[in-house]
Amino acid sequence: MSRVATPVAHIMDNPELRQDIVTGDWVVLAAGRASRPNFLDGAKEKRKRSSLEDCPFEQPQPEKASIIYYTDRDRKEWGLQIVPNKYPVLEHGEVCSVINRYGPYTYATAVGQHDVVITRNHDNNFAMLPPGEANALFRAFKERYQQMAQDSCVNYFFAFHNWGPGAGASIYHPHYQILGLPVVPPDVERSLEGSRNYFEKHRACVHCEMIAWERQSKYRVAFENEWAVAFAPYASRFPFEMKIFPKKHLPNFEETDDGDMRCVVELLQKTLSAMTRELNDPDYNFYIHTAPMRNKNLYEHYHWHIEILPKISVIASVEIGTGIEINTVHPGKAAEMLRERVNARGERLTPDL
Ligand SMILES: [Zn+2]
Ligand SMILES: [Zn+2]
Repeated sequence: MSRVATPVAHIMDNPELRQDIVTGDWVVLAAGRASRPNFLDGAKEKRKRSSLEDCPFEQPQPEKASIIYYTDRDRKEWGLQIVPNKYPVLEHGEVCSVINRYGPYTYATAVGQHDVVITRNHDNNFAMLPPGEANALFRAFKERYQQMAQDSCVNYFFAFHNWGPGAGASIYHPHYQILGLPVVPPDVERSLEGSRNYFEKHRACVHCEMIAWERQSKYRVAFENEWAVAFAPYASRFPFEMKIFPKKHLPNFEETDDGDMRCVVELLQKTLSAMTRELNDPDYNFYIHTAPMRNKNLYEHYHWHIEILPKISVIASVEIGTGIEINTVHPGKAAEMLRERVNARGERLTPDL
């Protein structure tokens, strides 16, 4: 592919290949000019609520909890707790993960930790939590990070949320999960690598540069407050993919102070509320990407953030077989749709880039 100078701004009619500035991945943007993507208009089956009697998270096990927050002084009512996952993908062990050979194959023991974080209310998903409870959840993530860091078998902290069966949640009651992984996962590794390469070339954080560009051009910014910004990435892999960054250059999630975290949490709630309203209540995933737990001085170029992926597209052969995602919604259009009704001044930006 030959490189040519691109115009500063252009209206996009034809499909375009865009490259992710951090990972180097290519995506196909085939958005067309429809004002509203038609997949948002179909009738949607109402979300299935389970009864309280059938809910396993109504009978918690405080004796197993690594962290428990109470809502009253007598410590009778709990508000949040972190317990081991009943069906863990990694199990705590006395001996750390060991790599073995089997004929031509390689395998390793799955040693690590797998938690479930349960918030008290049966129906309030993250967007619906009172801000105090939403912030308590992120405080609990930070606290749990410090505990897991004591386990020498854990090298990466991955906190995530699956909302709805389409996003992988098997239980209705809102819950979050944490994996204490023995290895740095491949997607994070590529993100770290891309960010390191950029830093070595330009002596600047690639994420800070992206944040500055997006805040200045505004096209893809859905929401912004004092210390955080939420925008649709230029090379969005999926329709309505959103990323939330603290504005300060912070490699490590667990070192973020309360003020910065409050701003990130506020935008996460705002973005998820807007998705629920504007995108017909989609299921979604969100997760934290942060620097690895060990050798922190090697990752000062990194900038932690949250990625949100609503489940509104189907992954098919091209995506699986080539690693090239086909996105049918323009990132600028996605940001505009989410921010449109919330922006009281009615400011409209042309989503042309
Ligand atoms: Zn419940
Ligand atoms: Zn940065």
